[in-house]
Amino acid sequence: VKEHGRNSVRQFIPEMGQNAISRLNMEAAMRRGLEQNEFLLHFQPKIDLLTRKVVGAEALIRWQHPQIGLIHPVEFIGIAEESGLIIQLGEWVLRHACEQQVRWREAGMPELQMAVNMSSRQFRQDDLASRVAQIIADTGIRPARLTLELTESMVMQDLNSTLATLRSLKNLGVSISLDDFGTGYSSLSYLRRFPIDELKIDKSFINDIHTNPDDAAIASAVIAMSLSLGLDVVAEGIENAEQAAQLREMKCHQGQGYYFSRPVEAEQFAAYIRRQED
Ligand code: C2E
Ligand code: CA
Ligand code: CA
Ligand code: CA
Repeated sequence: VKEHGRNSVRQFIPEMGQNAISRLNMEAAMRRGLEQNEFLLHFQPKIDLLTRKVVGAEALIRWQHPQIGLIHPVEFIGIAEESGLIIQLGEWVLRHACEQQVRWREAGMPELQMAVNMSSRQFRQDDLASRVAQIIADTGIRPARLTLELTESMVMQDLNSTLATLRSLKNLGVSISLDDFGTGYSSLSYLRRFPIDELKIDKSFINDIHTNPDDAAIASAVIAMSLSLGLDVVAEGIENAEQAAQLREMKCHQGQGYYFSRPVEAEQFAAYIRRQED
């Protein structure tokens, strides 16, 4: 089913093209998709690299289109962002991810950290903190169990407003993670000013960490820097045992990647955890 979905996605791209009409079609299709409940979340475990235990989940959006099949975010997040639909979509994601975290907690699973990706427009909303607070109140998630993932390029855009927004979010008690770290230009001094809790090393540095000394040096420096700043550090895109072993040696304690699990539906995620418990 997955492979079929992928091929269908490829056929969809030329149709979308760059022209305004297909873009409008896409927008309309997404709007309808939201109404018809065609979006869903997959969850990828975040793993403690020393114990191999699952410590959290990252929610990743998917679109189950009735004709096209499963569509991945790279195909629609950009258009959602440009059209502004990302605000609605982002709130849908946040609400559903929090609901799922509570459902798992109530089912007696070990309580997990739930990470949700934020888009740039979402992050720049004036009333972001009160919207997040509302969702926390509605769903009953413990704020400390919610992590908001922001990309490095997003937070570097307007430093003063970033700082104010981050503070208002931290006041709610949620965690802040800096995603795709290493791909932007943030400097150490900014990082120190920002109330962030976690860095995620971009997977482009992890790919060849076991074969390319430059990538290994960058990863190692980011890990050491994070630890000295008191931040948690997570490596993303771990695909094999060699990468995991090297990261462990570098004192990186957490990771995500296909080597442990692909993003999967909630049911499969729970089954993965249950298998670990045995
Ligand atoms: P991201 O936040 O950096 O998420 C990690 C991406 O890497 C995910 O792709 C995940 O499936 C993939 N991945 C995980 N492990 C591996 C691995 O070992 N190897 C490789 N090659 N890839 C791995 P996905 O789900 O297609 O999401 C792509 C991007 O779309 C995300 O990158 C994020 O920027 C965005 N996105 C996904 N869900 C949401 C959402 O709910 N809201 C927003 N605003 N953006 C989202
Ligand atoms: Ca992410
Ligand atoms: Ca990332
Ligand atoms: Ca990324």
